[in-house]
Amino acid sequence: MFEKEREELIQILKTRGIKNENIFAAFRKVERHLFVPEVMRFNAYKDVALPIGQGQTISQPYTVAYMTEALNPKPGQKILEIGTGSGFQAAVLFELGARVFTIERQYDLYNQTLKLFDKLGYKIASRCSDGTIGWSEFAPYDGIIVTAGGPAVPQNLMKQLVLNGKMIIPVGDKTTQTMKIITKFSEDDFDVKEAPYFAFVPLIGKEGWKE
Ligand code: SAM
Repeated sequence: MFEKEREELIQILKTRGIKNENIFAAFRKVERHLFVPEVMRFNAYKDVALPIGQGQTISQPYTVAYMTEALNPKPGQKILEIGTGSGFQAAVLFELGARVFTIERQYDLYNQTLKLFDKLGYKIASRCSDGTIGWSEFAPYDGIIVTAGGPAVPQNLMKQLVLNGKMIIPVGDKTTQTMKIITKFSEDDFDVKEAPYFAFVPLIGKEGWKE
């Protein structure tokens, strides 16, 4: 179902500059219409963010592809995602062969997406808690991807990243953010690249915005 729409979306991602063929293969496999509320299914393959309830959104496909391309996960790598939401980003990482750990702070969304992962056969470790403090039991991670916009880079997450690991995180105010692509060389030596103008829902927590 929706194969033609998925291909059209991939063409849009290509025209917007995404190049990684593995990401296109993952986008062919993950059926985005199953990750949005039923009434939105016919809009699932448009390149737009959509509401998923609880005041939250499934990110725009271009943003998911951009962050995934920047993270460039390799099969078997351990990736921590903060902000499970619909589960779409986590499913894309899973299809790329990553071992995915994901945290959602809102219980209803966490529970709904946990059931979806189970139904679709995605073996993704999920937890309901404040992701700004990370998930220390399984640290360190080869990569960390934060899908909500925070005021600063959470230091707990930096500590849970391996040396030479990458973190992709939108940082800014509550309406617009700059995407930071961070490579950690040592505990106090990082490379940071930035791309402007992204708009995420707020990252709320101990090292995020206060409610
Ligand atoms: N990755 C999601 C997807 O593929 O649908 C997009 C999620 S949405 C843009 C951001 C999510 O981050 C929301 O579901 C929100 O509840 C969650 N969130 C915000 N602050 C959080 C925190 N401190 N820890 C975990 N999740 C958080």
